[in-house]
Amino acid sequence: MATMRRLIPLKPSFPPADKFRDECGVFGIFQHPEAANLAYLGLHALQHRGQESAGIVSSNGGAMRACLGMGEVSEVFSRESLEMLKGDRAIGHVRYSTAGQSNLINAQPLKISSHRGEIAVCHNGNLVNADEVRRRLEREGSIFSTTSDTEVILHLIAKSRQDAVEDAVVDALRQVKGAYSLAFLTRDRMIGVRDPFGFRPLSLGRLEGATILTSESCALDLIDGEFLRDVQPGEVVVVTKEGMTSSFPFEKTPVRQCIFEHVYFSRPDSRVFGRSVSLVRKRLGAELAREHPVDADVVVAVPDSGTYAALGFSDESGIAFEAGLVRNHYIGRTFIEPEQAIRHFGVKLKLNPVRELLEGKRVVLVDDSIVRGTTSRKIVSMVKSAGALEVHMRISCPPTVGPCYYGVDTPNRGELIAATHSVDEICRHIHATSLAYLSLEGMLRASGGGDPEPFCTACYTNDYPIEFPEQQRAQMELPGS
Ligand code: SF4
Repeated sequence: MATMRRLIPLKPSFPPADKFRDECGVFGIFQHPEAANLAYLGLHALQHRGQESAGIVSSNGGAMRACLGMGEVSEVFSRESLEMLKGDRAIGHVRYSTAGQSNLINAQPLKISSHRGEIAVCHNGNLVNADEVRRRLEREGSIFSTTSDTEVILHLIAKSRQDAVEDAVVDALRQVKGAYSLAFLTRDRMIGVRDPFGFRPLSLGRLEGATILTSESCALDLIDGEFLRDVQPGEVVVVTKEGMTSSFPFEKTPVRQCIFEHVYFSRPDSRVFGRSVSLVRKRLGAELAREHPVDADVVVAVPDSGTYAALGFSDESGIAFEAGLVRNHYIGRTFIEPEQAIRHFGVKLKLNPVRELLEGKRVVLVDDSIVRGTTSRKIVSMVKSAGALEVHMRISCPPTVGPCYYGVDTPNRGELIAATHSVDEICRHIHATSLAYLSLEGMLRASGGGDPEPFCTACYTNDYPIEFPEQQRAQMELPGS
């Protein structure tokens, strides 16, 4: 009998290792007696955006209190720590590190004390010129306590000569370049900002007179809050006891919202960039069926993120949808791998094929992306071993050919299979019967509903809306170049 003995001290990847990683989620609430409890619930709803650390800073207008820790929301906070976070205002954050190391000092909200009083900030995105600004600030005497790009914003605010804190925030943000959706908490106000390109989402909501900022609207649903609207690209909203003001103080740029929020990152029950994510994903699947039809018996999703695109494919093609792959959502933080070799153990732990639905069938397998190709190859093999006669892989976006510099953790270009292989070569590599990707035009049609395309598509086109520094160019290099 095989012995069970290898303890793997890793959380089995959530999201899967062969996917782009989410960035961060921010949540803020102003003027509610249960601010910290509601922020805690909001962060639960945003957990898919970051699982490495979580934190909340709260206040009642006096000193700020903070609780931050490594791990998921349920691991970081306890009843006692939430009781300690008294106050009628709070901002919170879940983090997957895209800049700076993954450790407690980089957990957010980040907080400083300055001549303006305490200021805390949560950031979703990535500043492309953070290193350059940081070096300048260090030369001028600033001492940094984290390796996070977000800290440069706080230092710039502290140094600003503007009197009003919101003017200092704008002054600071005019000196940085990149992607930022931010929630600030100061002694008497909460400030929300979205960068002029609008890379990352940020929504405004309301609950019993309290104003809420959240990366995604699904957090409002959980707490019975009302969705008001998106914070617009380039907008600054300032929330005080007197109400909310809005301004657009930055130079206007073309809007470039991250299209991958629709394809993969955001929760399907959220409304992002003015559109329902699940409906956009269904449209992506329908476009895919129109562009790349196939004679088949069943449409099967790679769950969870491929589910809505598969439903759209099924609706459009008339081929029945079957839940032929089942995802296990309950994988613990550590697990034991048997010494006896089990083929594709890591993928099997997360996904299991339903033989009765696949055996003897020609299967259309719908997924949202292929990053390195390793996971897709295992899933195709798993579906075939369950008796599928053919596996036609359909991907609900174009081939991913470039890394992201705007707040998404991606492999270097050389590791992206589509950057170095043709579609035919990828098809052979993953052992699929056929492989097809949605076109860029199809993706934009599905995401924009026919409007002009206000999207960043750089990881599909290598057309980057903000230039990145020379020292980060290594990520773009291909093997042997
Ligand atoms: Fe989104 Fe890709 Fe643009 Fe990054 S490069 S912001 S992942 S579309």
